Amino acid sequence: MTQRDPIFRLEGVTRRYGNLTALDGIDFVAEDNAYIALLGPSGSGKTSLLRVIAGFETPDAGRIWFQGRDITDLPAHERGIGFVFQNFALFPHLTVFENVAFGLRHGAQALPKDEITERVKSSIEMVGLAGLEDRSPEQISGGQKQRVALARSLVMQPKLVLLDEPLGALDANLRERMQVELRAIRERLDVTFLHVTGSETEALAMGDKVAVLDAGRIVQYDTPDTIYDGPVVSDVAKFLNRFNLFEGSLENGIFTGAFGAVPVTNPRKNKSDTYAIRYDRTQIFDAGDANLPGPALPARFLASEYLGSSIIFLFETEDQKTVEVDHHLSLGEPRPLTVGENYTLSWNPEHAIVFGKETAR
Ligand code: ADP
Ligand code: MG
Repeated sequence: MTQRDPIFRLEGVTRRYGNLTALDGIDFVAEDNAYIALLGPSGSGKTSLLRVIAGFETPDAGRIWFQGRDITDLPAHERGIGFVFQNFALFPHLTVFENVAFGLRHGAQALPKDEITERVKSSIEMVGLAGLEDRSPEQISGGQKQRVALARSLVMQPKLVLLDEPLGALDANLRERMQVELRAIRERLDVTFLHVTGSETEALAMGDKVAVLDAGRIVQYDTPDTIYDGPVVSDVAKFLNRFNLFEGSLENGIFTGAFGAVPVTNPRKNKSDTYAIRYDRTQIFDAGDANLPGPALPARFLASEYLGSSIIFLFETEDQKTVEVDHHLSLGEPRPLTVGENYTLSWNPEHAIVFGKETAR
C-alpha cells in the first residue's frame, strides 16, 4: 500500500428513508490503491453507503469527493466508479463476452472494435475465465458468474470498485479461493476496492483496512490487527465474534461482574459498562484453583468444536451465559475436560478491554 491522496472522501453523508436514518452523517477518508473492507451487520447501511458513493442514490445531506473532485451531484454513469452487485446482475441473454463488453459498447465515447475486443479479452483473462467467452450466464457456475460481474466492472478501468457482499452467494471453499484472487487482482490493477461484507472473518482477512459500520455510522476505521486488538466500542467487539463480553458496572476504576470485582485501567467510552476478553486469551483452570492469573469465573463445560488450527470450548456461567475459549493447537494439546463438570475460567487482566459509560473519552 502506497501513501497517496485519498481516492474518495465523505463529509457528513446522510441518507434517510422516511423516518429511518440509514446513513447518519458519515465522515470518511479512503486511501488510494487499497483493499478496504466495510463490515457491518444486516441493516447497518452498507448497501446504502455503496449506492450513495456510486451515485444510484442522492444523500439528503453531506458531500462526496472522488479523486479530489466533488461528485455529489454527478450522475452515476459519469463518475467512473465500478459496482459489483450482490446478485451479479448479469444479462441472461448475452454471452460472457458481451456481458463484459456491455459498458464499453454503450459508453459515452465510441471505441474502435479492436480496442473493445482487446480490453474485454484482457479483463476476462484477468479474472480467470479465458475460454468461456461464448457461454451464456446459465451455462456457468455461481463462482464464474461472480468473475463475470467483476470483469464487467474492471473493463471500464475504474479507479474505485464497490463490491456489495461479492462472496455471499458462494460456498465456503470457493469463497476462500476468491478472497485470495480478489486481493491479487486488485494489487495488479492499482485500484481501490471497497468490499462490503457481513462476515468479520472475511473483513479481517481481506482488508488492508476495515471500516466498521453500525446503525449508519462508521464507528472504527483501522487495520485488521488494530481492530482485533482494540475495538473502540463494545459493539465492534461484539461483531468481531472473538470476545467474551460481560455486562456489569464500572465505578471508581473497579469493574464488578460475574467474575467478581476487578480493578481496571484505561477503560474506553461506551454506551454500557462492558468487560471484554478475547476467546483465545481466556484460559481454563480446575474449579477452586487458587493459582489464577486474574479474575475467577465459575463455568460448566458444555462442548468442544475442532476447527483445524484450534479447538473452541464452550462453557456456561452460573447466570446461563455462554463463554468461549479458543485454544490454538500451536500451544500444544489442550487439557482433557469432562462435559458437565465445573471449571474456573481466568485470564491475564491486562488483556481485557473494558468499556464504560462514565469514562471521559
Ligand atoms: P445493509 O446493506 O447493511 O444490510 P441497507 O443499506 O440495505 O443495509 O439498509 C439500511 C437500512 O435502510 C435498513 O433499515 C433498510 O431497511 C433501510 N432501507 C434501505 N433501502 C431502503 C429503501 N429503498 N426504502 C426504505 N428503507 C430502506
Ligand atoms: Mg446490503
